[in-house]
Amino acid sequence: MRTFHSQSVTILGATGSIGRSTLDVIGRHPERFRVMALSAQSSVEELAGLCHRYGARYAAIADASKAGALKRRLADLGAAAEVLAGEEGLVQAASLPQVDCVVAAIVGAAGLRPTLAAAGCGKKLLLANKEALVMAGPLFMEAVRRSGTLLLPVDSEHNAVFQCLPSSGGDLQQKGIRRILLTASGGPFRTRSREQLGTVTPEEACAHPTWIMGRKISVDSATMMNKGLEVIEAHWLFDAPASAIEVVIHPQSVVHSMVEYIDGSVIAQLGNPDMRTPIAQALGFPERIDAGVAWLDLFRIGTLAFEAPDFGRFPALKLAYAALELGGSAPAILNAANEVAVAGFLARRLPFAEVTSVIRDTLDSIPCGPVTRLEDVTEADRKARERAVELVRRAAAALA
Ligand code: NAD
Ligand code: MG
Repeated sequence: MRTFHSQSVTILGATGSIGRSTLDVIGRHPERFRVMALSAQSSVEELAGLCHRYGARYAAIADASKAGALKRRLADLGAAAEVLAGEEGLVQAASLPQVDCVVAAIVGAAGLRPTLAAAGCGKKLLLANKEALVMAGPLFMEAVRRSGTLLLPVDSEHNAVFQCLPSSGGDLQQKGIRRILLTASGGPFRTRSREQLGTVTPEEACAHPTWIMGRKISVDSATMMNKGLEVIEAHWLFDAPASAIEVVIHPQSVVHSMVEYIDGSVIAQLGNPDMRTPIAQALGFPERIDAGVAWLDLFRIGTLAFEAPDFGRFPALKLAYAALELGGSAPAILNAANEVAVAGFLARRLPFAEVTSVIRDTLDSIPCGPVTRLEDVTEADRKARERAVELVRRAAAALA
């Protein structure tokens, strides 16, 4: 019989789509994983319920005003979890000394500090919170290097690339790699004309054809900014220049990404579009564990299609490449403007087609500089948000 070293796991953003998929995989392997800490933004009921169900030792709530209610709810349930509160509480949950593995699954810039804290802990970090890496790439990768953290990508494309890479060290050239091919479903509006894109609603944007995800990333997929953020994410994770990262539209979402080698070989990772596969690959790494995912039925799928992205209808992708080329704090500015614009669109204050205009205008008007300290990132984020909020306000006034 095999014996496992049981890993203790913290999930930042446990109540979200990735958080729940992670708990689903963990629940299948009680001998391998123990839940140490779970976090949420403000949903006391959900967080307390998950802490009770999975026997978490700590419950971290970002909205500190809910800490009292969380304590009472945990006591009612008879759950022994200690409450941590505010951003500081999330950072504490990310850096608990007895934790072996942190799953960073908070959405957006709100995850920056806790995810960075986990990157500096020298443990295992499963990264879903791509925005943190996009914003603070140089600081993030430096923290990983310095601490010896094992960084494993959960984003399906990057997890696929990771699986297609050779285990040898060195840069892309030394590995014999020509290009990284990131696949993209194209989102719910892949076949819509520019005119049709003018009138789409938040409900339509959140109805993704192949993946079930949180609302922010669903809108990002619809604008294709998600793929833009992923190009920047790939740049940092795989030390790849923008010129070596290509986006390929693949509507079936079966090939999760590919690596092209200089001998002409292209290695792809395939699977059903279910985030439990990359989560299980990373949780179990270097072993393989059951993810509860349906087997891929190639006969049912029949055909795999590939096409080039249309930068005209989906300019967000181009903006992300531009921000990557600008470097420094430009990706943080891009990310902040995107978060504000997406929130504006979801609140029906900004038409879909103007999400990208807000980002472009913000990138053009906020000067970017080098990133050597966290303040460089938070300052760029703050200024970009200020500008983007003003642009959304004007758009909302024009709509009224
Ligand atoms: P979600 O909206 O479903 O969940 C977000 C989680 O973050 C929740 O637990 C929420 O409580 C928490 N949160 C939100 N705002 C917060 C705040 N201000 N402070 C603290 N916590 C906060 O999002 P999701 O779809 O699970 O995505 C999470 C991350 O994973 C994102 O960065 C996304 O880009 C990435 N990702 C998601 C998928 C997917 O399939 N859902 C795939 C790849 C990558
Ligand atoms: Mg992805």
